[in-house]
Amino acid sequence: MVKSVVPHTRWAWVEIDLAALRRNTHTFKALLPRGVKMMAVVKADAYGHGAVPCAKTMLASGADQLAVSTVDEGVELREAGITAPILILSEPPIESIDVLVEYDLMPSVFMGDFALAYGEAAAAAGKIGRYHLAIDTGMTRTGVRWDEVVELRSYIDFHRGLECAGTFTHFATADVPSDWDFSLQLKRFDSAVEALREAGFDPGIVHCDNTPGTILHPECHYDMVRVGIGLYGLHPAHTTVPRITLEPVMSVRAKITRVVWPEVGDGVSYGMNFRVPRKNIQIATIPVGYADGLSRTLSGNMPVLVRGMRCRQVGNICMDQCMFAVDVNNARTYRPVSGIEVGDVVTIMGVDGDDSITADEIAELRGTINYEVVCDFGLRLEKVYV
Ligand SMILES: *Cc1c(COP(=O)(O)O)cnc(C)c1O
Repeated sequence: MVKSVVPHTRWAWVEIDLAALRRNTHTFKALLPRGVKMMAVVKADAYGHGAVPCAKTMLASGADQLAVSTVDEGVELREAGITAPILILSEPPIESIDVLVEYDLMPSVFMGDFALAYGEAAAAAGKIGRYHLAIDTGMTRTGVRWDEVVELRSYIDFHRGLECAGTFTHFATADVPSDWDFSLQLKRFDSAVEALREAGFDPGIVHCDNTPGTILHPECHYDMVRVGIGLYGLHPAHTTVPRITLEPVMSVRAKITRVVWPEVGDGVSYGMNFRVPRKNIQIATIPVGYADGLSRTLSGNMPVLVRGMRCRQVGNICMDQCMFAVDVNNARTYRPVSGIEVGDVVTIMGVDGDDSITADEIAELRGTINYEVVCDFGLRLEKVYV
């Protein structure tokens, strides 16, 4: 039986195992030669795990810097008292520049006019506007083209309010071994950094490896790696599984709010897609729905764990609740079942006894990746740190 701290206001919650987060951070740190920094990626509320507690835990366990996606995410960390360098992984709107300067958040830069406006604002405030130069080496997402970096730096470098604190790119296929596109991106990145140095520009901290890159491509750890998904104990792809041992940080649990013994033929949930097929079936309700990140596409096609049993979710998943069936004393269940009760803890993701449901299993059922599964569970459910 799962023991857990249950929030007072709702019988459904996300459990965040900060000890596992700490161990994962140590595991990644141990991959890096002395002197290579680790930037912990805590964008999207730390992939749904809660940015402030996760960032503090990572910084206390060896992470050197933080990365977020949006200005607001950076401000949240600063307001929580975090002083480590924070990089925004995209170039934010020019309108946000005053906030960047006030909160000491480093933008990624790839457009000259943004950089100059940022330098102006920093200088006016008596500060230095630190930034990282983002280079597009082939992913076609953000960044200045790899063969235009010298041109961009030549355009902005006269500004005394600016300082290039780092230069980076992002790989599209770091999880694919011996990949031609990866090699091409790396070659372009190397040539861009070399061109900057030859032209007399300091690239600052040079970085490119994300989680799969950090694990599979130590040859390009350079000055820093940017680790996201791996710190949360999830693998970016099956290719990294044999290379590193990680512990999932997030579990999702709920308590049963209602149990009934329906008649044969009774329907369950909107549309009544599920009809009770036999006697001796219990239908239980838990207060977790698609607004909590339990995608409606999982309806009728996902397991939950309760009292050491794997049960089938039945009927359409509602916005805030869903139902599952327990086949009591069915000869096909592998142990005798006594029935369940209101208040029993149900595991939607995580370990219960000898069994577990992983983010990868849910991702497979949803037709997506574990990244999206954990981001979604972070949306509304209260987080309990254990
Ligand atoms: C999200 C992101 C990362 C982290 O990626 P993971 O696969 O989660 O390690 C690193 N760099 C950039 C630019 C990103 O957008």
